[in-house]
Amino acid sequence: VSNRGCHKIRGSQIRELLDSKLNVLFDCDGVIWNGETVVAGAPEVVTLLKQQGKKVFFITNNCTRPRASYVSKFIRLGFTDVAEEEIFSSAYCSAAYLRDVAKLQGKVYVIGCQGVVKELREAGVPIVEEDTDAPTGTIYDYPLDPDVKAVLVGYDEKFDFIKLAKACCYLQNTECLFLATDPDPWHPLRGGRITPGSGSLTAAVETASSRKATVIGKPSCFMFECIASQFNLDPSQSLMVGDRLETDILFGANCGLDTMLTLTGVSTLEEARGYKDSDDPERKDFVPDYVVETIADFIEAYEE
Ligand code: PLP
Ligand code: CA
Repeated sequence: VSNRGCHKIRGSQIRELLDSKLNVLFDCDGVIWNGETVVAGAPEVVTLLKQQGKKVFFITNNCTRPRASYVSKFIRLGFTDVAEEEIFSSAYCSAAYLRDVAKLQGKVYVIGCQGVVKELREAGVPIVEEDTDAPTGTIYDYPLDPDVKAVLVGYDEKFDFIKLAKACCYLQNTECLFLATDPDPWHPLRGGRITPGSGSLTAAVETASSRKATVIGKPSCFMFECIASQFNLDPSQSLMVGDRLETDILFGANCGLDTMLTLTGVSTLEEARGYKDSDDPERKDFVPDYVVETIADFIEAYEE
């Protein structure tokens, strides 16, 4: 379908592209910041785009923080004009899905972290409260809650065998929904280390339950639908900027957005060109329309 160009652009070419769009969607890690380090120039870029009348959104697969905590992070890293309503995380959107799409009548069993738990509570979606003081029991006698109607899997540094066992017991009921916050396989940490992502934990639950999770985060379109329904966005007027070809760029392709790869994160120009040159038509959706070194290149685009 698409004939995506993978065009490395700068200066007036960036300006022309931005002039043709009303909305800019930024992935966060690898685009706006790397962990706790801001990408140089990113706060100025956000301000500049807003001064140009653009709507700016932040769309992250990171489910570990509730929205309010992202606002604090933006402020801590030097952003002065990011509002909570502009931030769409896989935790926030998972809660929105359970409340508004699934209209869940029952509880959610969560494998995840505080970000997920807080967003579900905020949305009024009931969850199984784990009694952390009680002994968890053996695999034969741990408690199961009969009201569970959904299992939601996200990033969980306390993932263990009992959680896996409980999730696959709940999922034996074919009416129990199975959701994953995001499919990310791993994430870079400082010093060259990586950490397994939600996708790795979801894969374990999928194997144990012989079921497939519905993914809420990128590359699924649900997060775009979430933004579009609140802000009435037109895909053709929207640009998706991301650092990971298999999630961000595929997300843009799936949602009908123009896409831009920035080279401050996970994926490289070589990988993008590899997908472009590949004979496999499915890989074409991993190819970005445009490539920049960093979003800071937007600044010089407006200076010229
Ligand atoms: N999930 C976790 C737990 C992460 O640590 C990260 C990146 O740091 C992500 C997801 C990916 O976030 P993003 O979609 O903003 O790149
Ligand atoms: Ca990213």
